[in-house]
Amino acid sequence: MIRDPEVLDQLIDTISRFVRERLIPNEARLAEEDAVPPELLEEMKQMGLFGLSIPEEYGGLGLTLEEEVLVAMEIGKTSPAFRSIFGTNNGIGAQGILIDGTPEQKTKYVPRLATGELLSSFCLTEPDSGSDAASLRTTAVRDGDHYVLNGTKRFITNGPHADVFTVMARTDPGNKGAGGITAFIVEGDTPGLKRGPADKKMGQKGAHTCDIIFEDCRVPAENIIGGKEGQGFKTAMKVLDRGRLHISAVCVGVAERLVEESLAYAIERKQFGVSLAEHQLVQAMLADSKTEAYAGRTMVLDAARRKDEGENVSTLASCCKLFCAEMVGRVADRAVQVHGGAGYISEYAVERFYRDVRLFRIYEGTTQIQQVVIARNMVREVS
Ligand SMILES: Cc1cc2nc3c(=O)[nH]c(=O)nc-3n(C[C@H](O)[C@H](O)[C@H](O)COP(=O)(O)OP(=O)(O)OC[C@H]3O[C@@H](n4cnc5c(N)ncnc54)[C@H](O)[C@@H]3O)c2cc1C
Repeated sequence: MIRDPEVLDQLIDTISRFVRERLIPNEARLAEEDAVPPELLEEMKQMGLFGLSIPEEYGGLGLTLEEEVLVAMEIGKTSPAFRSIFGTNNGIGAQGILIDGTPEQKTKYVPRLATGELLSSFCLTEPDSGSDAASLRTTAVRDGDHYVLNGTKRFITNGPHADVFTVMARTDPGNKGAGGITAFIVEGDTPGLKRGPADKKMGQKGAHTCDIIFEDCRVPAENIIGGKEGQGFKTAMKVLDRGRLHISAVCVGVAERLVEESLAYAIERKQFGVSLAEHQLVQAMLADSKTEAYAGRTMVLDAARRKDEGENVSTLASCCKLFCAEMVGRVADRAVQVHGGAGYISEYAVERFYRDVRLFRIYEGTTQIQQVVIARNMVREVS
C-alpha cells in the first residue's frame, strides 16, 4: 500500500540520488577499507534509513511494506554491505520489540534504533544450530530478577559493533523445541557478553560478522521481549515475512544494477567489428537477466501489497526469497560472462557483486529451507 505517492516518489528520488552520488562512488573504498566510511554512516542516519519500517510515533519513517520494498530495491543498486549496517534495526532488532515488546521496551529502545543511535544485532544461529534454529542450545537460567545466559552465537551480523542484541536462548531445558525459546534484549556492554574476532568473509566487505559468546551473562528479567518466557521463536517468526521480502527486494535491486552494468559494457566493448550488444548470444544473456529481474520485482511488490492488506504471506515471502536470491546469483554469473576477462578482475564492480550476492542464498533461511517451507505450507493447505 502506498499512502502518498508524491511523498514516496520524493523519498525514492532522494535515496536514488544518494545511492548514485554517494554510495556507488564509494563502493571500492568500502571493499578496500572493509568498513562503511563514517561520513556515509552519518548521512544514512540523517536520511532515516535506520528507521524505514519503524512507526513515525517512535521516530521512524513508518513505511508500509510496499513502500519499504521499493526503497530496498533502490538501496540494492549499490554494494549490499551498505544496507547491512541498518538492516537489523529495521528488521528483527526493532520489529520484534514493536510487535511483542512491552511498552517500556518500546519506549526505551525503539526511538534510538530508529535514529541509528543504537546499532542492533540478531542472535539466533549457533555452531550446532543453523537451519534447525529451534534446536539452539544457548541457555538462560532464572536467578532472582535476572537470567544467566551461557552459549555461543555464530555469524552475527554487526556483532563487532552492536549496542544491543536480540538473543534467542532456551529458558525451558525440558522443552527442546521452539516453545522452550525466549527472546532477550541484551545490551552490548553487559558483563559476560564477549565478541569473537571478525569473520573473514567471501564478500560483502564492510559488513562484519563474529561470534557472540555469553559466559554467565546476567540479563534483567525485564529484558525478555514481551515479558513472557517461551515466546521468542514465535516473535522471530512474526518478523520473518517482512525480513524475507526486504532481502528479496535488495536482490532485485542488485540484479537491476547488474543488468545496467552488463548493458553498458556490452554496448561499449567491440569484438568482431561490432559491439558485444549486437551479438545475439550476448543479447540472450542480457534478455534473460532483464526478464528475471523484472519477474523478481513483480513478485516482491505483489507479496508486499498482499501483506499490507493483511494477507498471510508466509508462503509467498519464501517464494520471493527463493526466487530472488537464486535469480540474482544467475544474473551476477551472466554479468561476469558478459564482461569476459574483465568480469574476473576486481576493478569491475561485477566481480565484487558476484561474490557479494552468494550470501543471499544462505542467510535469512537458505534456498533449501525456503523450498521446505513452501512445500510444507502447500501440503498443509490441502490437508
Ligand atoms: C555473512 C552471514 C551473516 C549472517 N548473519 C546472521 C545474523 O545476523 N544472525 C543470525 O542468527 N544468523 C546469521 N547468519 C547465519 C545464517 O542464517 C545461517 O548460516 C543459515 O541459516 C544456515 O545455517 P548453517 O550455516 O548452520 O547451515 P546448515 O543449516 O548446516 O545447512 C547446510 C546446508 O544443508 C542444507 N539443509 C539444512 N537443513 C536442511 C533440510 N531440512 N532440508 C534440506 N536442506 C537442508 C542447507 O540448505 C545448506 O545448504 C549469517 C550467516 C552469514 C554467512
